[in-house]
Amino acid sequence: MSLLPAVFAGHGSPMNAIEDSEVRREWAALGARLPRPKAILCVSAHWETEGVAVAASEKPETIHDFRGFPRELHEMIYPATGSPALAKRVVELLGPEPVALDPERGLDHGAWSVLAAMYPDAGIPVAQLGLDMTRSGPEHFELAKRLSPLRDEGVLVLGSGNIVHNLSFYDPRRREPYEWAARFDAKVKALIKAGDFSTLAEHDALGPDAELAIPTPEHYLPLLYILALRRKGEKPSFFNERVENAMAMTSVLIG
Ligand code: ZN
Repeated sequence: MSLLPAVFAGHGSPMNAIEDSEVRREWAALGARLPRPKAILCVSAHWETEGVAVAASEKPETIHDFRGFPRELHEMIYPATGSPALAKRVVELLGPEPVALDPERGLDHGAWSVLAAMYPDAGIPVAQLGLDMTRSGPEHFELAKRLSPLRDEGVLVLGSGNIVHNLSFYDPRRREPYEWAARFDAKVKALIKAGDFSTLAEHDALGPDAELAIPTPEHYLPLLYILALRRKGEKPSFFNERVENAMAMTSVLIG
């Protein structure tokens, strides 16, 4: 089994699940290009937990955790099976950290909007890891390192969030990025290129733009889970490098 890459995808609007766009086409191309994984572990901005939790459902329901979008999106189903086996493996790897197995949890749109484009056949089992919101950035980063063996075991780890995400500034009529959004995106990219992940983990200390770019950390944290999986000598690469108003779609491939 060859080493699988790890992917951070900026997911943006749920409409990316159904609407043709450059972003969506990139997701589809990536799914076609990568070695086909045996299973996927998704770390999404849209599952916040207290304590570490893993979804262990055999048949995860498609969660429509948004409002006011077209009916087609509200009715969309992503019928991938779950992977209780992968969930158990995650518990093993994260031990001795206590991890709750959640047999009820479905797939949120952070997971399925990207996966529907990457793997439209829904033929790969998916498990999700929750974001334990009691942890600091460096604690997320350290926890994520323990997932590294999954890359050798045919599992694609997919982080889904946004490096810049501020809905209070979001204006669908505005295309050009706010200056602070473009600046913060560039800063994060430069730190990724420099391999300075410990600075990135301390997201509160990333300067004044961080307050606007990361008003709450849930869309940023999935990035740390992917950076933590880099092996020696691997150079991260970028795709969907675009910032629109208060949202960066910038995405990262490791390996
Ligand atoms: Zn989101």
